[in-house]
Amino acid sequence: MVKGRNELSSNRLALVATAFVALACAAILALSGWREWESRAVYLRNAEVDMTNLARSLTQHADDTFDLAETILAGMVDRMETGGTDPAALAKLQAFLQQRQFNRQRIRGIFVYDETGRWLATTEQINFAGLNNSDREYFQHHLARPDRSSFFGRPVKSRSGGQWIVTVSRRFNHPDGTFAGVVLTTIDVAYFLRFYEQFEVGTNGAISLLSADGILLARSGDDEGAYVGRDMSSAPLFREQQTRPAASVYYFKSPLDGLQRLSYYQRSSRYPFLVLATKAQDDVLAPWRQAVLARIAIVLGLTLLIALIGYYLIRQLAQRQRMATALLAKEADFRLLAEQSSDMVMRIGLDEVIRYVSPSSVRVIGWTAERLMGTQALGGVNAEDRLRVEQAVAALKNGEAEEARIVYRNRHREKGEIWVETALRVTRAPDTAAIDGVVAISRDMTKQKDLEDKLAVLATSDGLTGLANRRQFDERLADEWARARRAGGPLSLLLVDVDHFKKFNDHYGHQAGDGCLRAVARILAAQARRPADLAARYGGEEFVLLLPNTDAEGCVQVGERIREALRELGMLHAQNLPSRLITVSIGGATNVPREAVTECGALVAAADRALYAAKESGRDRLVMSGEVVAWPARSA
Ligand code: GH3
Ligand code: MG
Ligand code: MG
Repeated sequence: MVKGRNELSSNRLALVATAFVALACAAILALSGWREWESRAVYLRNAEVDMTNLARSLTQHADDTFDLAETILAGMVDRMETGGTDPAALAKLQAFLQQRQFNRQRIRGIFVYDETGRWLATTEQINFAGLNNSDREYFQHHLARPDRSSFFGRPVKSRSGGQWIVTVSRRFNHPDGTFAGVVLTTIDVAYFLRFYEQFEVGTNGAISLLSADGILLARSGDDEGAYVGRDMSSAPLFREQQTRPAASVYYFKSPLDGLQRLSYYQRSSRYPFLVLATKAQDDVLAPWRQAVLARIAIVLGLTLLIALIGYYLIRQLAQRQRMATALLAKEADFRLLAEQSSDMVMRIGLDEVIRYVSPSSVRVIGWTAERLMGTQALGGVNAEDRLRVEQAVAALKNGEAEEARIVYRNRHREKGEIWVETALRVTRAPDTAAIDGVVAISRDMTKQKDLEDKLAVLATSDGLTGLANRRQFDERLADEWARARRAGGPLSLLLVDVDHFKKFNDHYGHQAGDGCLRAVARILAAQARRPADLAARYGGEEFVLLLPNTDAEGCVQVGERIREALRELGMLHAQNLPSRLITVSIGGATNVPREAVTECGALVAAADRALYAAKESGRDRLVMSGEVVAWPARSA
């Protein structure tokens, strides 16, 4: 369950991280997209402002131009009406106009026609005799209307110069108020063109001057005059004229070249025309597009980088999470093993302080893990065993051994002292492989130790009499023999055999025989008075008494004491004549250092011979080997 939940939460974490990275990337893209869209709007707005300013100032410029034309017209009308059209006045007028070659750039020409359309005077240097302009629109206009205000004509190709011109005209009257003729000024379209060309509106941009009813008067870039006079009244700008403000930003698709344009138009407040300044939206946005492409490329690159790094980090994260989960599960398993084990598991640092101890410490040494944690690991070791344990631990820490097994006594909270068996093993740091501590697994082995002790006793003692057995005797004999030879001291041995014991068994039964043997054994044990003395059952009804540091004299004394004690006991043995009591025959031998005998077996053999001699000479006596035969020579 826990595992499943961990996996789930680690998956969720990776999912959340992925969502976060995706969101961050999306946010960056959206934000930069929004910013770019904003900057596009700024570009367009700036272009609108440019166009607005341009259109306003050009409207002003056109107003000024038409103002000038009107001023001239007003002056000319006054002159015609006061001066009349008699030949003298006309000659003066012609002379005046000829002198007025000023400012031909703006006002191209001034013309005066009489009521039949005949030329009366002009600034042009041509022979105008016979020329008649009564067919012109402006002439018909003035002829038909008494209105004395200026008439702005459609652009026409000049009859005198051949270039495109815009006409402004007024009628003048006879003194009686009837139509007397027309005064006309012409404005060169080229004049506007030249002026407009000073302004930068891009290759697809244009500045146009249009009459209020949609006739194109001048358009920048139109040097050939291809557009002049074109009727644009069907364009939305003119069709919806009533509903449109006098000046406004205006987006449209040009019917001339099909390009999407942004423009600003301004209608003159005084004259029937408007100025339209346009730029192609593509031209306006071209630098923006370039900058955007560069920026978007950078942002896309960065976003991709973030996404890639994010992906990499998330993968790492997921992997770490998986590893951590696996580690956690593994640790839980190990902990379970350690904590469920009946053995006490300890982790000990190099300072011999307990870093971890399993809860089974209560079972093993009676202390809780909480009490033991942080204490010295060897604190409870019995003082006698301590050095041994410390040596084993030191060997592990020095790297002399990888593992060790030690058995020692340790304090138990309630039981006082117990025997503990501990398996030690060094632990190494996973990264450096340097020894960083020791793991100890301990178990209470007091019972085993007791059993061991019992077995040891069993292995070395005789079951019937409780004396040392033959094996222990052999070992002690070899030791004492070697010691005696080294020290040059005496070593004695008594071989004791119960007399006619077979008969005793036959007469009293085997159990009684056993009891007899136990009684003899007790006597021997009692006579082995020195700590180094050893009484042992040599086999059957034969016993042996090893007497270190005892000379032949002492040996005889001990032997006689045994016989004495047996006599005092007075155990009946009807078949053993003449005493009818239990008696023993004893053969004694003493090691004499000056005799160069190297084998301990020789001592036993000597005692055996002495015993034989004792039996032969009538039983119930002690015979020392020296009394029987001499010690065998070295060569024998
Ligand atoms: P001797 O005076 O010559 O020593 O005669 P003996 O009968 O004592 O000698 P022998 O060696 O012929 O007999 C030893 C007897 O001791 C044989 C056996 O029945 C008896 N015996 C040996 N071991 C035990 C024992 O553990 N218990 C009993 N009840 N009898 C034993
Ligand atoms: Mg015997
Ligand atoms: Mg015997």
